[in-house]
Amino acid sequence: MRLGDFWRLVSFLLIGLVCGLLFGSLMLSLILALLLYVARLHHDLHLLSKWIGGRSSSELSGGSGIFEDLSYSLNQLFLSHQRRRKKLSGVLRQFEEATSAWPDAIVILNFSDEVEWANPAASKYLDVRWPEDKKQRITNLVRLPLLRTFIEENQKEEETLDIASPTKSNTYLSLLLGPFNDTHRVLLARDTTLIRQADQARSDFVANVSHELKTPLTVLKGYAEMLAEQHDKCPTEWLPAIEHMRVHANQMSELVDSLLELSRLDAGQPLAKIEKVNGEKIITGACTAGQVLAVNKKLKIELQIDQNTIILGSKQEVYSAFSNLIFNAIHYTPDGGTVVIRWSKKAKCISFEVEDNGIGIAPEHLNRVTERFYRIDGARSRLSDGAGNGLGLAIVKHIVRRHGASLRIVSKIGVGSCFSIDFPLEEVLQERE
Ligand code: ADP
Repeated sequence: MRLGDFWRLVSFLLIGLVCGLLFGSLMLSLILALLLYVARLHHDLHLLSKWIGGRSSSELSGGSGIFEDLSYSLNQLFLSHQRRRKKLSGVLRQFEEATSAWPDAIVILNFSDEVEWANPAASKYLDVRWPEDKKQRITNLVRLPLLRTFIEENQKEEETLDIASPTKSNTYLSLLLGPFNDTHRVLLARDTTLIRQADQARSDFVANVSHELKTPLTVLKGYAEMLAEQHDKCPTEWLPAIEHMRVHANQMSELVDSLLELSRLDAGQPLAKIEKVNGEKIITGACTAGQVLAVNKKLKIELQIDQNTIILGSKQEVYSAFSNLIFNAIHYTPDGGTVVIRWSKKAKCISFEVEDNGIGIAPEHLNRVTERFYRIDGARSRLSDGAGNGLGLAIVKHIVRRHGASLRIVSKIGVGSCFSIDFPLEEVLQERE
């Protein structure tokens, strides 16, 4: 008991005592004094309970003694709680304003793929409206088979998918699905129409320029070849210039062909003709084309081929991919080296592999060698005659993707490289010829 409370009780008792002595009823006066003291306590308690129950926004006042202390502490607690609440609602308002202004669609999904929250852009791009679509399954709201597979198959990892917008024609979206917390995932959709249009304009430009260059280059190449063949009729001092012209015309013509091929692959058209592709025939054809250089460099070409293995795809594209990898192995393997080419059926795929013991690729370049025009360094790429233009692996990557296959590159500088293309078994056909 606080000292103040003690003295208050004593003063009540003293008043009772004095009244008792004055009126000659000591017992009754003391009981009355105690009752008054209890009534005072009850009044303070009542005020406190009214304040707590009413969640009043005003300060708690009144009371004395221990109640005064209690009201002071409660008031402090209440004020700090109010300040925290104000701060939190400020943060929440800022978050809501930021997500509303955010141009990308954001949808939070629970473990059953139901919508837990979505921002306004989600209604624009995915037709997911908040709060009307709360607890609706996203796959019921956006009825795209591609999206269903994307959502159902990618449970843990962060994945992306490019789709045409389900709500707006001529609009393309890039979807990103990733974990939000232990039980929720977040689906983001970004409008990539402008990027696509810019890409398309670039592709069209490259395709048009390449197309326009093709005919004059063929003419130049033809004349250069003719002059080189009839060297006995030309003045001797012209011969180096003619040879120079011939080599460069050939290189430019190859570059234009590669650019045209890349533009065609880039256009995203599905395979024009799906046919049975006999890997052995394609590999033999590509090896024959690279034979001259391989013989000049005294390379040993080893073939390990499963003769009965056939895939479904485009013969022309598979030839282009295989020959690019085989030519690269021949180009980037020094004289006397070995190139091993494998075509075999594995547990989950049919695999094409080209392994060489050439110059190899440093780890920092491995992820970039399939970019168009990426060459590790000009001097290195010109290690041997007729080296390419930096488009070969970009073409391979496109063809691999179009065939639902995957490209693996393992390489160590100074030891060699192994390029593999794995065709998934659903896409391939085993056949005895
Ligand atoms: P390029 O036409 O220059 O050969 P590619 O796109 O085919 O272009 O290859 C890109 C780069 O990757 C090459 O410039 C080369 O440096 C490197 N590269 C490709 N294949 C091999 C290989 N088998 N061994 C070593 N480096 C290679």
